[in-house]
Amino acid sequence: MKAEIIAIGSELLTPHRLDTNSLFLTSGLNQMGVRVVHKAVVGDTPEEMLSSFRHAMDRAEVVVCCGGLGPTDDDRTRETVAVVLGRKLRRDEELLASIQERFRRMGRVMAEINARQAMVIEGATVLPNPRGTAPGLWIEAQSHILILLPGVPHELRAIFEAEVKPRLARLGIRDRLFTRDLRIAGLPESEVEQRVSPLYARYPETETTILASPGGIQLHPRLWSDDAASAEAMLDEIVDRMALALGEHLISTRGETLEEVVARVLTENRATIGVAESCTGGMLAERLTSVPGSSAYFLGGVVCYSNELKTTLAGVPPELIESHGAVSSQVALALADGIRRRTGATLGVGITGIAGPTGATPEKPVGLVHIGIADEHGPRERRFQFPGDRDRIRQYATYTALDTVRRHFLLPSRGRA
Ligand code: AMP
Ligand code: MG
Repeated sequence: MKAEIIAIGSELLTPHRLDTNSLFLTSGLNQMGVRVVHKAVVGDTPEEMLSSFRHAMDRAEVVVCCGGLGPTDDDRTRETVAVVLGRKLRRDEELLASIQERFRRMGRVMAEINARQAMVIEGATVLPNPRGTAPGLWIEAQSHILILLPGVPHELRAIFEAEVKPRLARLGIRDRLFTRDLRIAGLPESEVEQRVSPLYARYPETETTILASPGGIQLHPRLWSDDAASAEAMLDEIVDRMALALGEHLISTRGETLEEVVARVLTENRATIGVAESCTGGMLAERLTSVPGSSAYFLGGVVCYSNELKTTLAGVPPELIESHGAVSSQVALALADGIRRRTGATLGVGITGIAGPTGATPEKPVGLVHIGIADEHGPRERRFQFPGDRDRIRQYATYTALDTVRRHFLLPSRGRA
């Protein structure tokens, strides 16, 4: 069964508000076996709304609208849908009484304009709103289902969960969406695409979406089916083939984040970690400690921005900084080794780099980052040249440092040995 979502509200066409309701609705509809084939955002203009509704009804059996059910003049969804369906609006006295009662409970008198919210399209079922005055409406018409919901996100969610889901369940839709969430580290999007795209033609029933963010790529193979066992088996097969194509870059297949994977490998290896951060200013410590239970492996760390603190807090010899500069392989190695000793951790990580936009030299451009990692065999170091602005460079650096820790345990001679 196909659906279209229409988000209604002139504010959604300004730079100040984004339609987020449709994300929640898409997830909920998918869970109930309904595919979203189109989304639209339209202002509170009856002509635009009319054209949106008509197009939506051409494309989809289910049309979910959110917004425009308020009491004010610019809330026109009810009236417009009545026009599209050629139905009348009538006042629902019971609904009016419940809205008045709601105001009474809050110690207020209902304003006359709120009576508009008791206007119901002929033949519609009222979906009570436990959190506000605008009820939703469920309308079956012309082999379509129209679902009107208020725009306020928490009200919309409450009505969707309590009223819409059970009604969709009663339709007996057998199709379900099956999906996996593969996380990939250390490969650019184009490379991921190149490695896995030959599989797309092999599994034409499956649609794979690719999401990129600084440092991490997600692959979501998706499949609609009314047969759970065969859908899961097919996804297993695809994931196995993707895993082969992605090698050690694949970090998880069920949505586990990089910091969760790192937490798991550190715990499995009974390892502990200490960090010395310069250009990431504590972002690595933040990500490491975002995982519940991180005290099992994270001992602590320092943010050593100045040369002096690199020496006093992480034990970097001042001569090293003087001869090679604070952003150098030598200092990354010394930071990793120094913080390992000072914290008593099994692993030390050091990060030093140029996040920009200032501070670059011809030999040391913006985006240059050195990441060091030290264990009982001594420190190792890698140099990276990250793209983007200050924010992206810092995110890449943090992400890559986490991935360096993960990869440390892939090497048979280290960690597990
Ligand atoms: P309305 O039901 O049109 O009166 O919307 C009430 C409020 O809900 C608006 O002022 C927005 O802040 C919010 N809202 C409306 N539509 C959306 C949407 N699609 N996504 C997120 N918030 C929304
Ligand atoms: Mg509105």
